Amino acid sequence: MDTPKETWLARLQGNGYRLTGARRAVVETVAVSSRALTPLEVYDAARGRYPTLGLVTVYRTLEKLEELHLIQRVHQPAGCQAFIAAGKGHQHLLLCERCGQVTFFEGDNLNPLITSISKKTGYQIDKHWLQLFGLCESCR
Ligand SMILES: [Zn+2]
Ligand SMILES: [Zn+2]
Repeated sequence: MDTPKETWLARLQGNGYRLTGARRAVVETVAVSSRALTPLEVYDAARGRYPTLGLVTVYRTLEKLEELHLIQRVHQPAGCQAFIAAGKGHQHLLLCERCGQVTFFEGDNLNPLITSISKKTGYQIDKHWLQLFGLCESCR
């Protein structure tokens, strides 16, 4: 099986995106991170692999990866600027508020809640987005 990194590089290339050393460094950094990373954090980490990396390249590459649904935004009180490798299918995200560790989980039992909200508000609800915050096992 391909590693996420190889899959991502292949997807970028398949979408007409030229794979420069700088872009590879960004992909390699984000693909292996279990922590949500802001563009600045990606920039700092990826510069170890590619010292002349520019911040604009980081932003553009993240934008492209998000467009291809390979990464997703992690929502935090300060804003939604951090990214993590996207979950597979319908998954929800747990974020450690101390170390930024991200864990995905499957399954929710929201239907009774959604049905009751729908009744109360008259909305036809067809999507939801759920993210939980807390402390991971090693931070608690
Ligand atoms: Zn933690
Ligand atoms: Zn759900």
